[in-house]
Amino acid sequence: MQYRSFGKVPEKVSALGYGCMRFPTDAEGNPDRARAIALIRRAYEAGINYFDTAYGYHRGQSEGLVGEALRGIREKVFIATKMPCYMIEQEEDFERIFAEQLARLETDYIDFYLLHTLSLNTWENVVLKFGFLDKLTQLKKEGKIRYVGFSFHDTEEAFYPICDGYDWDFCQIQLNYINTDHQQGLNGLYHAAKKGMGVIIMEPLLGGRLADPPPVAKACLPQGKTPVEWALNYLWDMPEVSLLLSGMSSEEQLEQNLVTAEHSRIGCLSDEEKKAFVAAKKAFDTMAFVPCTKCKYCMPCPFGVDIPEVFAAYNNTAIHKKEEIAAAYAEMSGKASLCKDCGKCETLCPQHIAIRQELKKAEAAILAE
Ligand code: SF4
Ligand code: SF4
Repeated sequence: MQYRSFGKVPEKVSALGYGCMRFPTDAEGNPDRARAIALIRRAYEAGINYFDTAYGYHRGQSEGLVGEALRGIREKVFIATKMPCYMIEQEEDFERIFAEQLARLETDYIDFYLLHTLSLNTWENVVLKFGFLDKLTQLKKEGKIRYVGFSFHDTEEAFYPICDGYDWDFCQIQLNYINTDHQQGLNGLYHAAKKGMGVIIMEPLLGGRLADPPPVAKACLPQGKTPVEWALNYLWDMPEVSLLLSGMSSEEQLEQNLVTAEHSRIGCLSDEEKKAFVAAKKAFDTMAFVPCTKCKYCMPCPFGVDIPEVFAAYNNTAIHKKEEIAAAYAEMSGKASLCKDCGKCETLCPQHIAIRQELKKAEAAILAE
């Protein structure tokens, strides 16, 4: 495993971090505990020292699972978890949720604590309104939190006031070779790194879509590596990037990513290879995609729409045969047509997708002759 500097944080982190939101699941959608624990232990043995969970991951089951998996090795790893700012209704929720997180994780301190999925709205109407920054400072003084950061999903303009609004140790942003100008984009990465913050990258594979990019984008990538390897190396090449989070759902994925991480280096790309990513992005941008990352924050829909699956089918129309997708869609139980326009999902989507409108477009495109 390669270890990298983490901004002003004196400790080194593994180039690859384990995102604990996409464990293998059973038929009911609950995590397969035995497999998830085995995956975490294998990751630890292979040198991964950063495990990233959150209050809401796996419908509240991820933190407990991570706590159980790390029994006996807790002191040897970094645990990251997050305050769900999007769920906060009153100031006292902060203390209640934090105490619950410590209990679930079977620990009395969190190494890396984040305010989860900040936007300008949650920054102003939750974080500042309820005095969360003072609470974080206090917890740090008490040794219950070692380093403080935030994860972000909003526009570049919203990024700067948040990034400059507190003495953060680190931040977690969405970045990959397609999203260079999406949300905070590359400009936000450079800004945070210049301030001495460690930067964690989430969605390096754009919710898995860069593992199998559309042919026009794939054709632009250089030869000699798989699309996954290129996508990860694009990020590891940059000195501003500390670690990449990958929500690994299978043993095979974990083993493949471990090998790629082992070969990761700052400055690993040639100028020609860097140009190829710009061309691949240009080609990708011409496709009519919905930028859904399958995070499932919008789920469950009270009327049974399987929102991420509808968008996945829509996005797949650019890659696979339309007739096959239409046939699979016909068998799906959570079709877009079930949508009753209640709007609940749109308030929860970190990608700010106009879900209702896009669902209609998706179904029309999938079923079009
Ligand atoms: S707007 Fe439609 S898809 Fe979204 S939660 Fe309501 S019914 Fe479900
Ligand atoms: S629609 Fe938004 S909230 Fe739902 S899975 Fe996609 S990105 Fe996540």
